[in-house]
Amino acid sequence: MIRILVFCLKVGVVVALAYWLAERPGDVSIEWLGYRVDTTVGVLLLAVAAIAGVAALVYRFWRFLYRSPRDLGRRVQTGRRRRGYKALTQGMVAVAAGEPDEAARWARKADTLLDEPPLTMLLSAQAAQLNGDEAAAKRYFNAMLENPETRFLGLRGLLNQALRAGDRAAALEYVRQAHAMRPRTPWVLTSLFDLSERHGDLDTAERALRDAARVKALPAPDATRRRAVLLLERATAARAAGDPGALKQAREARRLAPDLAAAGALEAELLIAAGKGRKAARVLEDTWARAPHPDLAPLYLKAVPADDDLARLKRLSKLTADRVEHPESQLLLARAALDAKLWGEARRHLAAAAGPGGLDGAPSESVCRLMAELEEAEHGDTAAARDWLDRAMTAPADPSWVCRECGAAAEVWSARCGACEAFDGLRWQQPPRVTPAVSGGKTEIAGELAAPAAADSALPAVQDKA
Ligand SMILES: [Zn+2]
Repeated sequence: MIRILVFCLKVGVVVALAYWLAERPGDVSIEWLGYRVDTTVGVLLLAVAAIAGVAALVYRFWRFLYRSPRDLGRRVQTGRRRRGYKALTQGMVAVAAGEPDEAARWARKADTLLDEPPLTMLLSAQAAQLNGDEAAAKRYFNAMLENPETRFLGLRGLLNQALRAGDRAAALEYVRQAHAMRPRTPWVLTSLFDLSERHGDLDTAERALRDAARVKALPAPDATRRRAVLLLERATAARAAGDPGALKQAREARRLAPDLAAAGALEAELLIAAGKGRKAARVLEDTWARAPHPDLAPLYLKAVPADDDLARLKRLSKLTADRVEHPESQLLLARAALDAKLWGEARRHLAAAAGPGGLDGAPSESVCRLMAELEEAEHGDTAAARDWLDRAMTAPADPSWVCRECGAAAEVWSARCGACEAFDGLRWQQPPRVTPAVSGGKTEIAGELAAPAAADSALPAVQDKA
């Protein structure tokens, strides 16, 4: 409404101005190409204004005609991009939904509509992978390396492919390149740690671990534990090479993870070798208090030797003093009491080692065997001894190094599980119980860690990396 009023006002002013001009006195006479025009100054000015107005209109019309194809093209282009992005989105949804054909179709469409290879290449690679076409995916990932914007994404794709194919050398190379591009990315650091450690490049592994802890790629206790295991690995290698630095590394490993029995054992062993028996004994007592393990006992007796069986029993009582209720402690004391021919004491320790229910409950294999020995030695009762040996056959297995990832058991501790290669996978615990099925005769695995590699008869060969 106001606009109309303003327009009317403008028209009124122009008309009034024109009338006023036309009424002004003064004549003009123009002679041009044989024509003569006589008029007033006002009319002349009006005529000039009218010609200028017409010229402006003609110019605007000409500009419209000139520009319209370009505007039209721009509109078409915008439409293409919009449809291209839509195809890209749909393709990503298809990848998330695990629909390979759908994903490939949208990838092709996005590629045609959008002239931006960096955007569509990842989708194409993912669609190819969903289709199981690893070769095509690899081509896309490799093409992504050419462009600085997509290089990192391409490296990640190639790394995952190499890991799946079990090509660790290639994987390490890709992760090194990724690390050079982004040295603080959490997955780059954890992958670099893992692959370098497997490769035996423990220096790089340690640096990667430290950086990973710094950027919080790993929870702090987890990073500390891994460092301890890595140090123990280094100490083991150093000892094998006769490097005197082994002791320092083992000590540091035990400081970081006091419950890592293997670290305490190695430190004690190196101390004994250096003639520091008393110090070794203290290390072993400390380790037993946190992680009772049968390997510590012979070292303890070696650190400060005892003269006879009774003295040995006394020494082992000292070793186990802080964790006397633990089944490993009770089993160790039972063995020593048996050797010292203290039958009553041996029986008491065995009942305690059997856990809840005592000897009538579910004593472990070792407890059953020691009971057989006790019955034979104390009473010469071979029948009772045979009964205990029979019970030992079906008794729960003794603790061993069991991988918490795959359930495989190992005789000796190592930084990596020999079956699934999980780093720091081994824990000292009872292996998953194996009981013959009542019908069928197949082996059935009971217990928490039901894993294919857990059956006693099918224990995988464990590589002792240490
Ligand atoms: Zn494993």
